[in-house]
Amino acid sequence: MPPSISFRAHPVFLWPPDSARLLNLYKGGVSQSPPRKNGARGLQQLQVAKHIMTDKQVDDLNIASQDVLVTPNALKEKLPLSENALQTVISGRETIRNILDRKDHRLFVVIGPCSIHDTDAAMEYAAKLKKLADEVSDTIYLVLRVYFEKPRTTVGWKGLINDPYMNDSFKVEDGLHIARKLLLDVAELGLPAATEALDPTTPQYLQDLIAWNAIGARTTESQTHREMSSGLSSPVGFKNGTDGSLDVAVNAMLSVKHPHRFLGIDPEGRVALTTTKGNQYGHVVLRGGGGKPNYDSVSVALAEQALEKAGVSTNIMVDCSHANSNKDPGLQPLVMENIANQILEGNESILGLMVESHLKFGNQKIPPNLDDMEYGVSITDGCIAWDTTEEAIRSMADKLREVLPKRQK
Ligand code: PEP
Ligand code: MN
Repeated sequence: MPPSISFRAHPVFLWPPDSARLLNLYKGGVSQSPPRKNGARGLQQLQVAKHIMTDKQVDDLNIASQDVLVTPNALKEKLPLSENALQTVISGRETIRNILDRKDHRLFVVIGPCSIHDTDAAMEYAAKLKKLADEVSDTIYLVLRVYFEKPRTTVGWKGLINDPYMNDSFKVEDGLHIARKLLLDVAELGLPAATEALDPTTPQYLQDLIAWNAIGARTTESQTHREMSSGLSSPVGFKNGTDGSLDVAVNAMLSVKHPHRFLGIDPEGRVALTTTKGNQYGHVVLRGGGGKPNYDSVSVALAEQALEKAGVSTNIMVDCSHANSNKDPGLQPLVMENIANQILEGNESILGLMVESHLKFGNQKIPPNLDDMEYGVSITDGCIAWDTTEEAIRSMADKLREVLPKRQK
């Protein structure tokens, strides 16, 4: 007969688990266990245990507060997906999937500010981008970068959802509303949107408005992010690591196509065992790292070999920013030109590009007085200005107009 559960025999150490015993434990088995010879002492110990549980706190010692937020369903009720927005999302995802499946010859380019902090500037940028998108649509499929969550190497502003007013007030509930409203407005324009999926909780609030996701260089190796990606409804690009290693992205691709089971939240915001089907549209994003770029033809060929060896798709996106431009935003058009030349010379694997671009060049620190902030300038990574953006995209489209349709096998 198995020993009865007592406070002296810690139940978690009883092994192998006996289902009857575990069930008893779940039902409050300690008090239901048969009386022991020293029953009185057992009771005393129970009281001691209770005393410990009430007077000496061991949980949440470093939690200052918890505030219940709007549920995903409630946010969607307030800011519902319109028919136009829905069409944008459906066709955006389908086009990107077709590009990745090589059924659509175009290059897709995720382009826009490193992060969104001012929705007026974002909408001004979006309107310009929509015009340009229509102009080059035979060759390049433009997708607006709408990044609300910023991974930080140490600390700093974590993005519009986390701190929408940029003053450490952390009004996350407002951040979720502002983010969803912006995504709706962008989708209404007919422009597909891309974002970085960073916090595993936010997809339930926003993913119905997203056509493409990135998993960042700092999280591609994280199991949590791979699990989350396996359940996302749109294609996902995995960045190589910040040290330049491609292995983490290759492993992420092996992981993401499989179903996973993990703790998530459901549309009502309840903790839920989440079972995913696996995402078949993962691909790598070369962003450079370890102080070196990796967009050059040799690095791209090595990436193709590594992907082929792992038995995963050789679809590649090149991030023209970050370590590929040595964090000098002005170098991004040179990377774009280099990629166009690689394609002209026969490259078959590069299907997408990422560019950090805003209304104005460069970046700025968040000033102590927010009135001093310069309109249309990034507050995270530096960006190229709109004029340069237009020029670089037009030049790329002109170079690739003839060759891309012939690239299809
Ligand atoms: C970004 O896209 O702004 C970003 C943080 O990228 P990475 O994860 O490659 O550093
Ligand atoms: Mn950036």
